[in-house]
Amino acid sequence: MLTLECPYCGVMAEETELSPGGEAHLKRFGPGSSDEEFEAYMFARKNPKGVHFERWRHAYGCGKWFLAARCTATLEVFGTYPAQVSAPPQDLQDKIKAKRPDWKGFK
Ligand SMILES: [Zn+2]
Repeated sequence: MLTLECPYCGVMAEETELSPGGEAHLKRFGPGSSDEEFEAYMFARKNPKGVHFERWRHAYGCGKWFLAARCTATLEVFGTYPAQVSAPPQDLQDKIKAKRPDWKGFK
Protein backbone atom coordinates (compact mmCIF):
# COMPACT_ATOMS: atom_id res chain seq x y z
CA MET A 1 0.00 0.00 0.00
CA LEU A 2 1.16 3.50 -0.81
CA THR A 3 1.90 5.66 2.23
CA LEU A 4 2.69 9.36 1.89
CA GLU A 5 3.67 11.87 4.58
CA CYS A 6 1.49 14.96 4.47
CA PRO A 7 3.94 17.92 4.51
CA TYR A 8 1.38 20.11 6.31
CA CYS A 9 0.26 17.99 9.27
CA GLY A 10 3.08 15.41 9.30
CA VAL A 11 0.74 12.41 9.26
CA MET A 12 1.88 9.27 7.44
CA ALA A 13 -1.29 8.84 5.41
CA GLU A 14 -2.27 5.58 3.78
CA GLU A 15 -3.56 5.63 0.24
CA THR A 16 -7.17 5.32 1.44
CA GLU A 17 -6.85 8.68 3.26
CA LEU A 18 -5.68 10.44 0.11
CA SER A 19 -7.22 11.56 -3.17
CA PRO A 20 -5.07 11.53 -6.30
CA GLY A 21 -4.89 14.70 -8.38
CA GLY A 22 -2.86 13.62 -11.38
CA GLU A 23 0.39 14.96 -12.68
CA ALA A 24 2.10 17.80 -10.81
CA HIS A 25 3.83 20.89 -12.20
CA LEU A 26 1.65 21.30 -15.29
CA LYS A 27 2.43 24.50 -17.15
CA ARG A 28 -0.83 26.35 -17.67
CA PHE A 29 -1.60 27.89 -21.05
CA GLY A 30 -4.45 30.32 -21.47
CA PRO A 31 -5.62 33.04 -23.84
CA GLY A 32 -3.00 33.94 -26.42
CA SER A 33 -1.44 30.50 -26.49
CA SER A 34 -1.39 28.31 -29.54
CA ASP A 35 -3.89 25.51 -30.05
CA GLU A 36 -1.09 22.95 -29.64
CA GLU A 37 0.00 24.44 -26.29
CA PHE A 38 -3.56 24.53 -24.99
CA GLU A 39 -4.26 20.99 -26.18
CA ALA A 40 -1.08 19.75 -24.48
CA TYR A 41 -2.07 21.53 -21.25
CA MET A 42 -5.57 20.07 -21.32
CA PHE A 43 -4.93 16.51 -22.46
CA ALA A 44 -1.29 15.44 -22.65
CA ARG A 45 0.07 13.76 -19.52
CA LYS A 46 3.31 11.95 -18.82
CA ASN A 47 3.09 8.27 -17.96
CA PRO A 48 6.66 7.33 -17.08
CA LYS A 49 7.94 4.07 -15.70
CA GLY A 50 10.10 5.54 -12.98
CA VAL A 51 10.25 8.91 -11.25
CA HIS A 52 6.97 10.80 -11.37
CA PHE A 53 5.69 13.96 -9.67
CA GLU A 54 2.06 13.81 -8.59
CA ARG A 55 -0.63 15.86 -6.86
CA TRP A 56 -2.32 14.35 -3.81
CA ARG A 57 -4.91 15.67 -1.38
CA HIS A 58 -4.99 14.65 2.27
CA ALA A 59 -8.76 14.17 1.90
CA TYR A 60 -9.45 12.43 5.23
CA GLY A 61 -6.96 14.55 7.17
CA CYS A 62 -6.17 18.24 6.86
CA GLY A 63 -7.71 18.45 3.38
CA LYS A 64 -4.75 20.23 1.78
CA TRP A 65 -3.15 19.52 -1.58
CA PHE A 66 0.50 18.52 -1.68
CA LEU A 67 2.95 17.06 -4.17
CA ALA A 68 4.82 13.79 -4.07
CA ALA A 69 7.76 12.32 -5.95
CA ARG A 70 7.67 8.57 -6.31
CA CYS A 71 8.64 5.74 -8.58
CA THR A 72 5.72 4.33 -10.53
CA ALA A 73 7.42 0.96 -10.97
CA THR A 74 8.47 0.24 -7.37
CA LEU A 75 6.15 2.65 -5.44
CA GLU A 76 9.25 4.01 -3.65
CA VAL A 77 8.42 7.45 -2.30
CA PHE A 78 11.26 9.96 -2.59
CA GLY A 79 9.47 12.73 -0.73
CA THR A 80 6.50 15.05 -0.42
CA TYR A 81 6.35 18.83 -0.40
CA PRO A 82 3.83 21.70 -0.36
CA ALA A 83 1.93 22.35 -3.58
CA GLN A 84 2.77 26.07 -3.86
CA VAL A 85 5.99 25.59 -5.82
CA SER A 86 6.64 25.49 -9.56
CA ALA A 87 9.41 22.88 -9.34
CA PRO A 88 10.44 20.17 -6.88
CA PRO A 89 12.76 21.38 -4.10
CA GLN A 90 16.43 21.08 -5.06
CA ASP A 91 17.25 18.86 -2.07
CA LEU A 92 14.56 16.41 -3.18
CA GLN A 93 15.91 16.41 -6.74
CA ASP A 94 19.40 15.75 -5.36
CA LYS A 95 18.03 12.85 -3.28
CA ILE A 96 16.31 11.32 -6.32
CA LYS A 97 19.45 11.73 -8.44
CA ALA A 98 21.52 10.00 -5.73
CA LYS A 99 19.12 7.04 -5.63
CA ARG A 100 18.46 6.92 -9.38
CA PRO A 101 21.58 7.98 -11.31
CA ASP A 102 19.77 7.24 -14.60
CA TRP A 103 17.06 9.82 -13.83
CA LYS A 104 17.24 12.63 -16.40
CA GLY A 105 16.12 15.34 -13.97
CA PHE A 106 13.04 17.51 -13.64
CA LYS A 107 11.86 19.13 -16.89
ZN1 LIG B 1 -2.45 16.68 6.12
